[in-house]
Amino acid sequence: MSYPNIILRRGKEESLDRFHPWVFSGAIYSLPENLEEGDIVNVITHDGRHIGVGHYQIGSIAVRLLHFGETTINEQFFNDRLTQALKLRKALNLDRDDNTAYRLVHGEGDFLPGLIVDIYGNTAVVQAHSPGMHFARETIANALVKLSDIEIKNVYYKSETTLPYKAQLDPQNQYLIGGFETNIAIENGLKFHVDWLKGQKTGFFVDQRDNRSLLEHYSKGRKVLNMFCYTGGFSFYAMRGGAELVHSVDSSAKAITLTNANVELNFPGDNRHQAFAQDAFKFLDGIGNNDYDLIILDPPAFAKHRSALKNALRGYQRLNAKAFEKISSGGLLFTFSCSQAVNKDQFRLAVFSAAAQTGRKVRILHQLTQPSDHPINIYHPEGEYLKGLILYVE
Ligand code: SAH
Repeated sequence: MSYPNIILRRGKEESLDRFHPWVFSGAIYSLPENLEEGDIVNVITHDGRHIGVGHYQIGSIAVRLLHFGETTINEQFFNDRLTQALKLRKALNLDRDDNTAYRLVHGEGDFLPGLIVDIYGNTAVVQAHSPGMHFARETIANALVKLSDIEIKNVYYKSETTLPYKAQLDPQNQYLIGGFETNIAIENGLKFHVDWLKGQKTGFFVDQRDNRSLLEHYSKGRKVLNMFCYTGGFSFYAMRGGAELVHSVDSSAKAITLTNANVELNFPGDNRHQAFAQDAFKFLDGIGNNDYDLIILDPPAFAKHRSALKNALRGYQRLNAKAFEKISSGGLLFTFSCSQAVNKDQFRLAVFSAAAQTGRKVRILHQLTQPSDHPINIYHPEGEYLKGLILYVE
């Protein structure tokens, strides 16, 4: 297809030849005239070799490659990629009567950089992170409803906060196809109200599914504190696992309302659960030394960009130190970081520093990561973002 050509500077194709899907702006020798953000481009080496086709955007990542080699980016292209993505989720057995929530497209991990699609039953929530995906939204929506083996009736587009602000695309959150129907999704047999209209991200954090399951196994008879609970995900697994009591904390009153609604949905009238709309740090300051023997810390990304790394690491250390100070002897700490800018070793160092600061005897039982519906393209290690540790604290 005759897309405009972006020519690379000499020798700048090395990472692309290893299938890394980004072209950085510093690698570009020449841009075609009148190129606009979101345009589809060919990427060509300085000596004229065609590398692939991608979306152009202004910024340090200038092109996100959609395909290595020649192709036409149209509905068929998206249909093929989405079919492959669905095939993987089917192979992972995530699309079941008792599990209707999962991630269908995880950006580069599904060879669709800049695109996220989460499935909640018959509804797909689409999030664009690049102008190119924003312009392709209708095509993507059409490709989604045409997928065989899954019946998608509603496609909700939700990119108001994920597109580069400077691009001034002014995306409206809206249904591209269908409209609102039931918003109850099921994860491993537990039901959740998913608020994709007003909730955070696509409405639910599907990335903690496996870690929540693990928590269920360790919850029997424990007093559980679920910090940064959002819709209460971890809390219901703890309740099903036989926890003695479960307290959920989030600074957002809306999150607490959702959590309480979800308790009613799964465990009506169960008075083991209580929810608190409070700041996590203040809440931890206010508890006693023997109140909880299982604590979950799943804060929002402390570092959205590399520039914020130092402060983020300090934040993780401060938060974890508070939990180490208060958790009962024989307690389990489930601690996470979803900051892409913080790597596994840096996070572990922050948690180590927190443990050392409190002098508790701490052992690592499990090292956790994102689930299989958030695959990491082996050529794009940046796709690994969720890190977690389960610690035994004496
Ligand atoms: N554990 C959740 C996801 C957590 S997302 C799940 O399994 O679905 C992070 C949450 O932290 C958000 O709901 C946000 O409202 C909350 N939050 C952010 N800052 C906070 C703070 N200082 N104290 C308590 N909660 C906070």
